[in-house]
Amino acid sequence: MQAPSLGGVQVPRGDGTTVVRLRHGSSLNDFADKIDANPASLVTVLFHLGEMATATQSLDEDTFGTLAAELGYRIEMVSAEEEDRELLGSFDIDLEAELAEEGDDQLTARPPVVTVMGHVDHGKTKLLDAIRSADVVAGEAGGITQHIGAYQIHTEHEGLDRAITFIDTPGHEAFTAMRARGAQVTDIAILVVAADDGVMPQTIEALNHAQAAGVPIVVAVNKVDKEGANPAKIRQQLTEYNLVAEEYGGDTMFVDISALKRMGIDDLLEAVLLTADAALDLRANADKDARGVAVEANLDKGRGAVATVLVQSGTLRVGDAIVAGTAYGRVRAMFDEHGETVVEATPARPVMVLGLTSVPRAGDTFLVAPDDRTARQIAEKREAAERAALLAKRRKRISLEDFTQALQQGKVETLNLVLKGDVSGAVEALEDALLKIDVGDEVDLRVIHRGVGAVTQNDVNLATVDNAIILGFNVKYAERVEDLADREGVDVRFYSVIYQAIEDVEAALKGMLKPEYEEVQLGTAEVREVFRSSKFGNIAGSLVRSGTIRRNTKARVLRGGNVIADNLSIESLKRFKDDATEVREGYECGIGLGSFNDLQVDDVVETFEMREKPRS
Ligand code: GDP
Repeated sequence: MQAPSLGGVQVPRGDGTTVVRLRHGSSLNDFADKIDANPASLVTVLFHLGEMATATQSLDEDTFGTLAAELGYRIEMVSAEEEDRELLGSFDIDLEAELAEEGDDQLTARPPVVTVMGHVDHGKTKLLDAIRSADVVAGEAGGITQHIGAYQIHTEHEGLDRAITFIDTPGHEAFTAMRARGAQVTDIAILVVAADDGVMPQTIEALNHAQAAGVPIVVAVNKVDKEGANPAKIRQQLTEYNLVAEEYGGDTMFVDISALKRMGIDDLLEAVLLTADAALDLRANADKDARGVAVEANLDKGRGAVATVLVQSGTLRVGDAIVAGTAYGRVRAMFDEHGETVVEATPARPVMVLGLTSVPRAGDTFLVAPDDRTARQIAEKREAAERAALLAKRRKRISLEDFTQALQQGKVETLNLVLKGDVSGAVEALEDALLKIDVGDEVDLRVIHRGVGAVTQNDVNLATVDNAIILGFNVKYAERVEDLADREGVDVRFYSVIYQAIEDVEAALKGMLKPEYEEVQLGTAEVREVFRSSKFGNIAGSLVRSGTIRRNTKARVLRGGNVIADNLSIESLKRFKDDATEVREGYECGIGLGSFNDLQVDDVVETFEMREKPRS
């Protein structure tokens, strides 16, 4: 709202309660920026209030206060750190905590977000195609034509129209890459297992990832149309990994499908919804500024930065100022997977967004900022924070060596391991031997993933998320993975002898245990004469009988073989008139035991120290 002010200048006015937060040391330029005014007009207003200041000069709180009161604002001065924290706080927001605070009246049901995972060639891509075409509204809208990284379909479930969102990038790379960035978008994982092939290394990898993330799994037993398909065998194999089919008394839904023939797809969607309804409370508040995650992004020649974002809470609208990772901008247009324009995107809706100034990364969180300027500031702050984090990451996350310390500081109680080997037999042998190490109750050893082959990007990502150490037996890094491990600070160790690997882990684990101490005798001395000194207390003129008597060590006094005083220490030690730090066997010395004065001739002074006991 523009209104004439003192001197006839136009300044947007507040209503008397509008709060403007300014950093200490701000100038009229900063204030003008916050209220969208021309700095020169603020100089004029201030002049009419009897104060002279230039636009760039730092002003104190009182001056701002006077000016603000005149214009209908209230000033709050904040420190630079406070402002940073405020900006970044909104970026670090904990969706779960936020959810817990929101009441039932604010929350509405949202569709589940599903990722399809499984071994290569088991039919993930085909399944995503089949699901796309199972969409009941796809027919009318002309089908899902655009690959935007995620899509939403509708299906009828128990007489109701239900939506399900799929992350349209098969495989668990995307899943872990996002998790590594702290973004959890997936509510449910569909684990595709080909019935003619069975459980394979990446099947296990995928289920490890999902289980580590606490994401419920629905198993799609695919290719049941093929000869030699044995769906029962898949069910049986997966029981070993705690995925027990409902028909066997477990709580995991298994659905037989043929992605190729598009059979069983509706049953699979039904299983997803049943699992979601049974295991998860999928609700979100749509009535606020949007937050979510970027699932895919690229630079388009004509349209600039194009990002598909998944709204997780709130509603995203065209015109919103947004930040995604370190990219920012204003939502110029939004499209769905049908290529149709979208004006509003509610929770669990993926949309392609145009208008960002740069390309975010998959897994970057996005949020709506109050205005363009704040969006830019948040992006800049994030970039700075990222640079700092990158530097910090160069330090090891966790290594076998620093485990003891981490444990003592209460930072860890579990040693997470990822095992890779050239043959499955070796991996099993290694795992068996590792799990047999007796580590007591204080520490847990957990193998979070095992597999055959080189140490891959996935292994490193998993280790990053779960702070694990990777042990490679007779294998190497896959291409370009060493850099990643280095960057992420993951401790990766290679062995060609199993025993060595076990020894290292054992040593680390034993280091993790609280050390045990034992008493080691250092020396004994026989009291020959007692000198009474009012100043120093009694001094025992002694002969060192064994070992060495050292100053400041712990001591006790024995008389006739019995301990008559304990918890003493050698407070003073003299050779003739001089102070000595230690006196060896066969020499005479004067020993002072501090306030303990009850010394007699023939007493024995014994000194000792507590040493850490090596574990057997
Ligand atoms: P992905 O690597 O897991 O994405 O697997 P794809 O979806 O690319 O499928 C791998 C191969 O298996 C392709 O040749 C598909 O045609 C084939 N395939 C996928 N699903 C089925 C199915 O249900 N039945 C049969 N017979 N073949 C399938």
